[in-house]
Amino acid sequence: MAQFHMIRSSTAALKSAKMGNRVCRLCHSPLVATFVDLGMSPLCESYLTPDQLDQMEAFYPLHVFVCENCFLVQIPQYVQPEHIFTEYAYFSSYSTSWVEHARKYCSMIKERLNLGPSTQVFEIASNDGYLLQHFLPLNIPVTGIEPAVNVAEAARKRNVPTLVEFFGLKLAERLALEGHRADLIIGNNVLAQVPDLNDFTAGMACLLAPNGVITLEFPHLERLIEENQFDTIYHEHYSYFSLLVTDRLASRHSLRIFDVEKLTTHGGSLRVYLCKSDAAHETAQSVKALLAHERKMGYENSATYIGFEARVHRTKRKLLSFLIRCKEADAKVCGYGAPGKGNTLLNYCGIGRDFLDFTVDRNPYKHGRYTPGMHIPIHPVSAIDAARPDYLLILPWNLTPEIVAQMKHSSDWGCKFIVPIPEVHIVDPCEATQ
Ligand SMILES: [Zn+2]
Repeated sequence: MAQFHMIRSSTAALKSAKMGNRVCRLCHSPLVATFVDLGMSPLCESYLTPDQLDQMEAFYPLHVFVCENCFLVQIPQYVQPEHIFTEYAYFSSYSTSWVEHARKYCSMIKERLNLGPSTQVFEIASNDGYLLQHFLPLNIPVTGIEPAVNVAEAARKRNVPTLVEFFGLKLAERLALEGHRADLIIGNNVLAQVPDLNDFTAGMACLLAPNGVITLEFPHLERLIEENQFDTIYHEHYSYFSLLVTDRLASRHSLRIFDVEKLTTHGGSLRVYLCKSDAAHETAQSVKALLAHERKMGYENSATYIGFEARVHRTKRKLLSFLIRCKEADAKVCGYGAPGKGNTLLNYCGIGRDFLDFTVDRNPYKHGRYTPGMHIPIHPVSAIDAARPDYLLILPWNLTPEIVAQMKHSSDWGCKFIVPIPEVHIVDPCEATQ
């Protein structure tokens, strides 16, 4: 989920990174080892209007490094956050499954932490109040922190009190001075988008009550590596986390991971529970087990990371070979979906209108626009029924079962689905078990 968080960062480390002297944003060691170089790519949410097709388009390096000291996988800050987010307006409430995920979380965490009218809940990058709204009927005081004015305004309309600010140590210190102490701090899909990880984590530690809890959700690096999810890499995501790295980040700020859960969201995420190092929460066996598992998988060994790029190359060759065979046989191929990650895949693989006639999306904002870089036109979903393609390339592959069920009628004209990740494979809607 592309909630976002912008931070004006002015640490010496980040300044030197901008000048080409790359250093790790967690431990400040030099960044030398390549995790994967996906070449030059435009910002994946910059959908173009017809007028913009005749103009110059900005491309930035999508070169991902791994720190050989702390093993944080990361993209140097090639693009300033204000350039990324100028045209960005993501409202979480548009996604019904995400709102439902938030509702379930709220009722679970209320019971687990015994939250009530005398406790305080904060959410960082609270977006349009999609999550905090569920605490209102329970009389649990909440504060959202959201830097985007228009998105925060939508939250206020839902009666979710929202500070329009960037979160970091400075804001946390101010809130603490005003007497605030968080019994719960929530950060869903925000950690990856934080340029200054240490300032952000120090802020959470500062605001936390002595026995308070932080829960963070983020895509799990193990899933990215094991399932070749290289298309989930884009400029908006600065960092990619294993539990080992998250543990290292927590320790630097006197925080401790005391529980972890695996979630199915975004191709496989972790929900991590943190508290102050000396708090009463007992560390669950699941934390030790996952840390041991990641060590066994080699996530403290540079070779594990450096080997990833060759697998990405192979995945690209297999997808292109398949598409070339389709086109040589005069097959008609269209896309389904125009998600941000689709644009990483299309640009890296060089899949333009020579392969895809068009793609479709359910979001009306994208209709009549073009995908960044590859300039594939985006139509409403009904365009598929009119065109009757032989194949549909599913770009939001994590939603494959849902899309196959929605488009099952396309089997009437013999349409099949191409799923590009983890490796290209074909799904026949006639045989899909739905
Ligand atoms: Zn590092």
